Amino acid sequence: MISISQLQFAYSDGPFSLQIPHLVVEDRESVVIAGPSGSGKTTLLNLIAGILPAASGSLKIDSTDITSLSDAERRLFRLRHLGLVFQDFQLLEYLDVLDNVLLPCRIHPQVMLTRDLRERAKSLLDAVGLEGFARRPIGRLSQGERQRVALCRALLLSPRVVLADEPTGNLDPGNSVRMVELLMSESQRAGAILMMVTHDHSLLPRFNRVIPFELFLKRSPVAAPGGTEE
Ligand code: ADP
Ligand code: MG
Repeated sequence: MISISQLQFAYSDGPFSLQIPHLVVEDRESVVIAGPSGSGKTTLLNLIAGILPAASGSLKIDSTDITSLSDAERRLFRLRHLGLVFQDFQLLEYLDVLDNVLLPCRIHPQVMLTRDLRERAKSLLDAVGLEGFARRPIGRLSQGERQRVALCRALLLSPRVVLADEPTGNLDPGNSVRMVELLMSESQRAGAILMMVTHDHSLLPRFNRVIPFELFLKRSPVAAPGGTEE
């Protein structure tokens, strides 16, 4: 469960601030965060991921209040319990596809790289249509292929919470649906929460709930010309 109460955050160098009085997402729930560009969707995911520290309030994942953890503790918690698909993928160019997917267990001191995990990595790559890509360098992948590698990495350790920031932004409609179905089935299997940002309205009916982001804004952002696209 994610439980947020009286959470406040502001960037040190800019006017943007966010305040969330109350938000609860239950295990097995799949939710979409919807809102225009610049409304703070990525900021919220980074707060839940413990990448950005809140100014005040509480943000619990299960029984852990991540606002009370040190930077190092938040990092370990994130590596072990959260699966993140970043908007810009954040893959390591000097590693190949398989080693990028296996990265969470290479950098977490308490997670061993087992044969089972290696097999899981390969079966996730198969599930996203990247069979045969294991040893390919990241530099030789298309944007859509990189996005799918990022998704496999996020799911590797069956996280408690999957945070996906526009994970289908570079994919064709067929692959988008396939990725969302994989995110959903993996989250359900692990009893996890899926929180996703998307502008693709055709995907919304697949989710339990849509959280309209404007609810949380202290001040309205200047709308991007032409609508809600990034
Ligand atoms: P969204 O994901 O909804 O498009 P973001 O969470 O990325 O929005 O950004 C919300 C607001 O915070 C924007 O106005 C953006 O310019 C600002 N912002 C994002 N990152 C930073 C930062 N590191 N420092 C200062 N302001 C930032
Ligand atoms: Mg964003």
